[in-house]
Amino acid sequence: MTATHITLQPRPRDASVDHSIQAIVTGTGPGETCNTDLAAGPWDFDARPGYGPGSSMGDVIPTGAPRQGELPVEYREASEAELAERVRAAKATLGDRVVVLGHFYQREEVVLHADYVGDSFQLANAALEHPDAEAIVFCGVHFMAETADLLSRPEQAVILPNLAAGCSMADMASIDEVEECWEQLAEVYGDLDTPDADGLVPVIPVTYMNSSAAIKGFVGRHGGIVCTSSNARTVLEWAFARGRRVLFFPDQHLGRNTAKAMGVPLEQMPMWNPRKSLGGSNEETLADARVILWHGFCSVHRRFTVDQIDKARAEHPGVRVIVHPECPMDVVDAADDAGSTDYIRKAIAAATEPTTFAIGTEINLVQRLAAEHPQHQIFCLDPVVCPCSTMYRIHPGYLAWVLEALVAGDVLNRITVPDDVAGPARLALERMLAAKP
Ligand code: SF4
Repeated sequence: MTATHITLQPRPRDASVDHSIQAIVTGTGPGETCNTDLAAGPWDFDARPGYGPGSSMGDVIPTGAPRQGELPVEYREASEAELAERVRAAKATLGDRVVVLGHFYQREEVVLHADYVGDSFQLANAALEHPDAEAIVFCGVHFMAETADLLSRPEQAVILPNLAAGCSMADMASIDEVEECWEQLAEVYGDLDTPDADGLVPVIPVTYMNSSAAIKGFVGRHGGIVCTSSNARTVLEWAFARGRRVLFFPDQHLGRNTAKAMGVPLEQMPMWNPRKSLGGSNEETLADARVILWHGFCSVHRRFTVDQIDKARAEHPGVRVIVHPECPMDVVDAADDAGSTDYIRKAIAAATEPTTFAIGTEINLVQRLAAEHPQHQIFCLDPVVCPCSTMYRIHPGYLAWVLEALVAGDVLNRITVPDDVAGPARLALERMLAAKP
């Protein structure tokens, strides 16, 4: 597998979403935030039942989701400058023994210390460039650390600085719900492993990268494949070459937007609600289905609306609107363009003339892009400052804590995928890498 090279951008002047939130909360800066609790440390809300303040605060956190123990007080009470210095010192001591990965949606105070910045799959691959590193500190969310563990060497420890950093979308498809769905589909379609006269099986399961390793393992065991927001179309073509239809999870919007662009009619894309019998559908609809969409979504990208796009166009004539395909279909249809985080970055970098961009994705990335490209006017479609609350749980205090523990010889918060899950999950990832447009 070839590792992805990610060029680190020069540091923007002040792309800190946290500084914006602190200014809003103290009344010293403009704007509005979705929750003033965001100005506090994540440890203040980690013990509460929901995902905390931010875009996924309304989602239900599953029972049994990992919870983070209390961060030692020395990290909770340290200033931003002190934490930055402690992280720098620990990294300098560890040298090549550690690699720090930062997702595009991480806060600036964390990205500052990342050796690589990228999307989840780019980062998992970036870790491969450091086969000798003893530890990979993944500043992202749980499923990303699992994917890095799948792709790294067994001796390498993948560390998630805050165990409570899950992903509300990934958590919307549990392995039990997906197994139950598969059993019900077998009752409708018959043997799901036997191809028909055309060599097609009844259903191919396709999971978005934003899913647990258990779900990737399920897909691997059942002839299915993983996709990213960059390659979803190629992966669906792969699946349609092998099956009558696709079961797509957990993100309904990525599935719908991709299949619609491929010409699949909406009436052949029923929704599967795991809390209802036959997913809330019926045998006739399922028989005619081409893509069965799981009832999952990203609470960050669900915030974007057509009204926001209309307002941006009215206030900024000539604005170019680019949104992420996790946004609802009407938003993608109303935008000028839709694509992955990497696609959005490249589209902005490719603009040779000063341009106004309205972007529909997570605020940390948008604010950083705006600081990196001062020749353009770049703003988030959502006027409310509302970062992804699960990403937001990686505070620099947690990063300093796990790095200083490594210096002391302790591996904290290691994420390990069990062998019986890892084998089929890797198979599903390898199918994706082998799928060609
Ligand atoms: S932005 Fe959405 S998909 Fe990404 S980690 Fe947050 S909740 Fe999950």
